[in-house]
Amino acid sequence: MRDWLIGVAVAFVIFLAVIGINVLPALLLVAVGFAVYTLLERRQMIAPTGSKETAMRHAVNFDHIGGQEHAKRELMEALDFLRYREKIRSLGIRPLKGILLTGPPGTGKTLMAKAAATYTDSAFVSASGSEFVEMYVGVGAQRVRDLFRRARQSARKEGKDSAIVFIDEIDVVGGKRGAHSHQEYDQTLNQLLTEMDGMQTTQSPMVLVIAATNRADILDSALLRPGRFDRQIRVDLPDREGRLHILRIQTKDKPLAQDVDLEHIARETYGFSGAQLESLCNEAAIIALRENSTRITQAYFRDAVDKVLMGEKTGRHPTDEELYRVAVHELGHAIASEMMRPHSVSHITIAPRGNALGFVRQIPETDGYLYTKEQLDQQIVVALGGAVAESLVFNNRSTGAQNDFLQASRIARTEVMCGLSRMGIVAEEHLPENILDEEVRFILAEIEQRTREVLAPFAKALEEYAKYVVVTESIDGSQFREWLAQCKEQASSSTITTPVLDMTLAN
Ligand code: ADP
Ligand code: MG
Ligand code: ZN
Repeated sequence: MRDWLIGVAVAFVIFLAVIGINVLPALLLVAVGFAVYTLLERRQMIAPTGSKETAMRHAVNFDHIGGQEHAKRELMEALDFLRYREKIRSLGIRPLKGILLTGPPGTGKTLMAKAAATYTDSAFVSASGSEFVEMYVGVGAQRVRDLFRRARQSARKEGKDSAIVFIDEIDVVGGKRGAHSHQEYDQTLNQLLTEMDGMQTTQSPMVLVIAATNRADILDSALLRPGRFDRQIRVDLPDREGRLHILRIQTKDKPLAQDVDLEHIARETYGFSGAQLESLCNEAAIIALRENSTRITQAYFRDAVDKVLMGEKTGRHPTDEELYRVAVHELGHAIASEMMRPHSVSHITIAPRGNALGFVRQIPETDGYLYTKEQLDQQIVVALGGAVAESLVFNNRSTGAQNDFLQASRIARTEVMCGLSRMGIVAEEHLPENILDEEVRFILAEIEQRTREVLAPFAKALEEYAKYVVVTESIDGSQFREWLAQCKEQASSSTITTPVLDMTLAN
């Protein structure tokens, strides 16, 4: 309809021009009008046509959110304030005005807010804290006012008697007042507080503010006072069960091959957020498309994990010598990893990806929160394995181990700070930096020796196997374990055959 009208208008203007009427002033007027309109739209004074909110509204509900059982339950409980308003009002309970969702990015906070709108049958409007920050004083406050007005408007338009205002990244405007020189932030925050204080249970439509942040610690205490963000709900990275649940949700409408083992993928993706898992499933499907496959196989998922973790494969072409060195280095990590914790290697690859020339992916043990000293020591052994393998094979080292050393010294530092070093219990603030450094260096030197002892028996075999890895580029964990088992067997049988050799020599 709109296109049709524009078409007719253009035709009419051309017609006027053809019959000799000067159309220039009229055209100029239209252009100015259009410019003003777009400017206003960008400043959100006018809701853009076919606004984002309506597009997003095909109902996200709590079933679309994986894991987060605890957060979901808490949120639903809080939302019953909206669902059973009459009851709440008759008991004279102060309404719940704000809910703060805290947690790392990509864990589903935005999803939760949308699901909350569906659950309570509310209108939903959203904005991000950074949208309120402008160079000009007063604009932020104005936008806050508009946001709440927009919430009430769309509730009325959709015939609902409540609205949810979602403010993402609230820390941008909700940081401690006076902490920055910028007066603008303070005005914006004040306006938000004013809006929240003005909200009443008797009002219709009723408004509930849900805000999200990953920095709850820097929020102005005024925001957290009763009657403002009364409830804080933690939305954490998913545990293994949660990851499995999210993977199930994200693969529901994807054709999976028979061999796909989501539990295995969940185990391997320790530390992934919901958003990363979503991206993982998407990448796996893209790889399938690229490979002209109609089903997504486990191998595609494996590549997708690498991609999400390390970035896209780069076009870099290391020289053959470099490739061989990378293979030796990675095998060093891998052997160390298997010797410390059997079945811990998921796979090894020397295809350059992101910033890395190669890497070994480990299967995390369990989702642990505590580590013993022995576990930390073992992690250092694995980290040093690459460089030690290089020195065993080449008698020298390369720059490739920089990250490994950084990681190893970080772990050693943790040991010292947690009272696990030979220094015993230490107080962080009373520990001079140079003494800490010395202790860290002592730990690393000792464990480097241990790593050497772990890897030395495999040095010869490793030299050969690395050539094979250069050709295949990547090796599966189980394949690698077969090789390692053979090596161990040979090592032990050679010790048995030694006396026989001695005897032959004696003869
Ligand atoms: P946040 O707001 O915490 O940064 P989002 O809610 O924006 O995270 O999540 C981004 C995307 O990641 C979602 O659109 C969804 O596809 C996926 N996602 C994140 N968390 C989950 C979850 N718990 N369950 C299912 N999908 C999730
Ligand atoms: Mg978000
Ligand atoms: Zn390394």
